[in-house]
Amino acid sequence: MRWEMGMLFFVMVYFAVVFTTFAIEDRAIARMICGGDEWITPECKSTTLTSLDTLFLVLDMVFLVLFDLEIAIKIFAFGMAAAAAPLIRRALGEYLFDAINMFDFVIIQISVVMNVLVLTTDVFDGASGGASLLPLLKVVRLLRVVVVMTRLQRSRERYRRMRMVGLAAPVEKVFEIIGELREKLIHPEDDKALAWTMDLIAKEELYKVSFTDSKSSSGMHLTAEMTDWLRSNLQASLPGGLLNKPAANVAENSTKGSAAKSAAADPSRQRRSSARMANAVVPQWITKAIAEPSVGAILDKLDQWNFDVFALDEATNGNPLTVGGMHLMQRMGVLDRIPIPKDKLATYLQEVEKGYVRANPFHNATHASDVMFTTHYFMQAPLLRDMTGSLDKFAAVLAAAVHDYAHPGLSNPFLIATREDKAVLYNDQSVLEMFHIAGSFRVMLTTPGCDITEGLTREQFRQFRETMVSMILATDLKTHFEHLGRLKTRVATDAYASVERKDVLLLLGQALHAADISNPTKPRALMMRWTERVMKEFWQQGDKEKSLRLPISAFMDRAQPQVPQCQIGFVNVLVKPLFVEWHKLLGETALPAITELENSLKIWTEEGSTPCESWDKEDFVR
Ligand SMILES: [Zn+2]
Repeated sequence: MRWEMGMLFFVMVYFAVVFTTFAIEDRAIARMICGGDEWITPECKSTTLTSLDTLFLVLDMVFLVLFDLEIAIKIFAFGMAAAAAPLIRRALGEYLFDAINMFDFVIIQISVVMNVLVLTTDVFDGASGGASLLPLLKVVRLLRVVVVMTRLQRSRERYRRMRMVGLAAPVEKVFEIIGELREKLIHPEDDKALAWTMDLIAKEELYKVSFTDSKSSSGMHLTAEMTDWLRSNLQASLPGGLLNKPAANVAENSTKGSAAKSAAADPSRQRRSSARMANAVVPQWITKAIAEPSVGAILDKLDQWNFDVFALDEATNGNPLTVGGMHLMQRMGVLDRIPIPKDKLATYLQEVEKGYVRANPFHNATHASDVMFTTHYFMQAPLLRDMTGSLDKFAAVLAAAVHDYAHPGLSNPFLIATREDKAVLYNDQSVLEMFHIAGSFRVMLTTPGCDITEGLTREQFRQFRETMVSMILATDLKTHFEHLGRLKTRVATDAYASVERKDVLLLLGQALHAADISNPTKPRALMMRWTERVMKEFWQQGDKEKSLRLPISAFMDRAQPQVPQCQIGFVNVLVKPLFVEWHKLLGETALPAITELENSLKIWTEEGSTPCESWDKEDFVR
């Protein structure tokens, strides 16, 4: 890097010299030195210009020799082309085979020859060849400046990419290396092989084995049973779906596909559940609440980015998840296409809402409702809308509703550090996320009147659960950079041309994760209320840490409320990089989020902690 910086300085000096020779007009100098508008005497003119031009010529010569030295070093460093390369490449060597390098080399050699000619002839004797060469020499110097600019641009680009790699996933560096290799390759076969490699990495299929019906890729004969066993067991161990299988959205309507098959196997079950489904109605208190004008006016805006979930919380007397959730699911139309009994869904949502800890300043049912509506907002984007069926749409919104079920208001590191029961139960792995999933499914499957899955076929239930589980696991901040890296790779390679099940799961997981950390991307009034709540919860954990004599976690010490620093860091490290990629994928839909995000950054940068002065004073220092 020091070498590059040295070259940059060197080139700058060279530019200064070249441009000075252009800027100084011969006549002006003559006028200045010889003291008149006309050339006073040929002698004066001659001596002035000779000495000045000779100085530049000598300076130029020094630079040219140094440039030639640099090229010689590079030719040596790049080495010769492989024996299999075409003759011209072998003759030129790797460095000169590049068009710009070659052009640069030729220009420098021409400059050297011309400089020598001009210097060794009588320069200002009008009759000699030297004087007529001068204008040509200036043109060659200008060309040289253009070449140097191009090369400088290239090395700056390289430098920029190298710096980016600092926070980027190694896969981006791998892609860069392969990309550069592809630029150099001549054989279309090699290029094809590298394109295939990039595709494989992008789709994360390096370790995937594809089974054909009778033979494995290694030519081993597999019986039908063996293939079946491999398929079901490998798939069961990998929720993302390891095997080559097209995006499977199981039949939504119970009269077709696998649902029809299972109905044939158990006709009485199917009849019972259809009959139940038809009779199931939304409990009256919810229908009434939705019909309330004050609630209706708020719910009318649920497709908008500035949807006010705090207002809904107040208007529904603290039932935003049940009332808002039922209204949302009915409006999405998914309940007409998949067999989910409305009465059970209402009971289930009510149980989940009760399970959220009201005393938590942040992780409560209002946050869950906010994430549910924000996830729904993202699901309206064409990309997500088109790649998901009704069952996935339903599972996505429900996953958002339950994603923080029974959250204790403490972070994963705290639970692990204090050896809390949940941390022991889940072996320190995504402790809270595991706890939310397990708890919400336990309520669904064991609390009377809550089994919303009773009408689903086995395959529908498998898909529903897979979507919910993988989405909620994606809200663990620990997976943020890994998933962001995958998302970036997909955006860069345009891999969504053919959609597979695991692509759907990755995108749905990121939709929920983005919604979960979307507070700074909301309009000022909403963003402020969320910030106040999240900081209060942080400080409560800080108090606990203090009383347990544990080191107080970053930003959790109420004695040092670094709210702007915390928010700016949170936005720059986590929120912004994700939303930038998210915007590339979702387009227009994510635009209001990007705009508000910039606003939030501006607020915290320009106003500092002033906006926090209206918060409860007792929260600051205790
Ligand atoms: Zn959350």
